[in-house]
Amino acid sequence: MNTETETQVVIVGAGPVGLMLAAELRLAGVETVVLERLEMPSPHSKALGVHARTLEQLAMRGLVDPFLAGGIPVPAWHFGFLSQRLDLTRLDTPYPFMLAFPQHRTEAVLLERALALGARIRRGRSVTGLTQDDDEVRVVTESGETWRAGWVIGADGAGSTVRQTAGIEFPGTDADTYAYLGDAHADSPPPPGYGVLNERGALIVAPLPGGRFRFTGFDPEHQDSPRRDLTIDELQETVRRISGTDFDIRDPAWLTRFGNATRVAATYRRRRVLLAGDAAHMHFPAGGVGLNLGLQDAMNLGWKLAAVVQGRADAGLLDTYHDERHPWAEDVAEHTLAQTALIRATTPTGLALRQVLSDLITDLPDLSLKLARRLAGLDVHYGRTDQHRLVGARVTATGDALLDGRAALVGSPGHAMIEQAATAGIPVQPLTVDASAAVIRPDGYVWWATDDPDDDLPDLVGRFGGH
Ligand SMILES: Cc1cc2nc3c(=O)[nH]c(=O)nc-3n(C[C@H](O)[C@H](O)[C@H](O)COP(=O)(O)OP(=O)(O)OC[C@H]3O[C@@H](n4cnc5c(N)ncnc54)[C@H](O)[C@@H]3O)c2cc1C
Repeated sequence: MNTETETQVVIVGAGPVGLMLAAELRLAGVETVVLERLEMPSPHSKALGVHARTLEQLAMRGLVDPFLAGGIPVPAWHFGFLSQRLDLTRLDTPYPFMLAFPQHRTEAVLLERALALGARIRRGRSVTGLTQDDDEVRVVTESGETWRAGWVIGADGAGSTVRQTAGIEFPGTDADTYAYLGDAHADSPPPPGYGVLNERGALIVAPLPGGRFRFTGFDPEHQDSPRRDLTIDELQETVRRISGTDFDIRDPAWLTRFGNATRVAATYRRRRVLLAGDAAHMHFPAGGVGLNLGLQDAMNLGWKLAAVVQGRADAGLLDTYHDERHPWAEDVAEHTLAQTALIRATTPTGLALRQVLSDLITDLPDLSLKLARRLAGLDVHYGRTDQHRLVGARVTATGDALLDGRAALVGSPGHAMIEQAATAGIPVQPLTVDASAAVIRPDGYVWWATDDPDDDLPDLVGRFGGH
């Protein structure tokens, strides 16, 4: 097959991040094609957890209900498998928990939305390379198709072909720790919230929809064979050795291993090529944050790229995507490496360190809260010291204000700017911020704020807000 097709944006990869981006771009009316290698979505769920900031952002688009209806709120979560869990109920969010919701269901919700908004999803298309010039990118697939687009997003996971063919470096560290994972039935399952870490290794058990359980952890005896397939016999033996029982595990649906290679792309943009999700960052899935990080990339990038495609902003806006998101991937790389060190700390010295840290988490509620906010993505901000103190701050509970993916103007009636907006037919949203007026970005961060009630309406309201 030798066809050539043109569109505004090509997204490579229909994982959760590619699908979220497709929905965001379509919401703004951008022609979007998603090319996915697999004929069918994977039935396995790598991720099981959706954290608070992701839920806040899903709510901004009216998408949170299927998550809340089908998920299980988990009020305490672990950092590095420490025995003292972090109390999530104190988080400053409408969603003070981690929501247990398998990744394949997240993908199903996002796929339905992307399709409903008119994204074209082309399966069985393995992208093998791309070339770009000043005007366009040409993406080629294994079957010989060429897709021409103004912009391409690599959302094709940690082994990203897009990242490699665009020549973007992926610096970091190789794996030196491997975890086991088995999704299986258990005739004598442990109580909810079960976890153990001792001199023999680490095990955490989590219930899955459909009656299975996830058995995952660190086995010091099997660090030399990361490429050998995990078998049910080895899983049973590992679980028995670490916990004293194998819980009568049987009928696995998925057996795998994963490592802690930790890398962040040197740049999230090379001219007309952008990276998002695991294509831009990879790390040990400790704390359950990778998918969350990727969905938040999508929320940051989608409206910016739409504005550039539609001529409402120049391409420089896309550099702010790298500037804002790259540091938070570095932050996740750091805390997941730290958690890996804790998970593999099965020596007497390591166990003593773990006990000291667990006791600190018990004794210092603010330490627990700080770590919980970091996992939940609630400490993400995009502030700059040369701007109003609120700029870059996270906004929660935005009601219907950001449903349409456009910026929102917030302020009290009586201010000159708000009157000006009313005259121009620009809606003013009923949100409160600690300023005379503010503009909230489509991804729920303060973009601009003023304490001067007589300031002029900023130009960005016209370009990014309004209706
Ligand atoms: C064991 C485990 C547990 C995890 N638990 C959690 C958790 O609880 N919470 C959390 O937030 N994160 C978790 N993660 C991380 C999470 O699964 C990933 O961060 C997430 O899948 C990233 O989504 P993505 O869309 O960026 O990439 P992917 O999910 O990797 O999707 C990439 C897509 O691109 C496609 N593709 C690849 N190459 C090509 C190509 N050349 N052409 C066309 N298509 C291509 C692939 O088929 C795939 O569909 C976990 C990961 C693992 C391994």
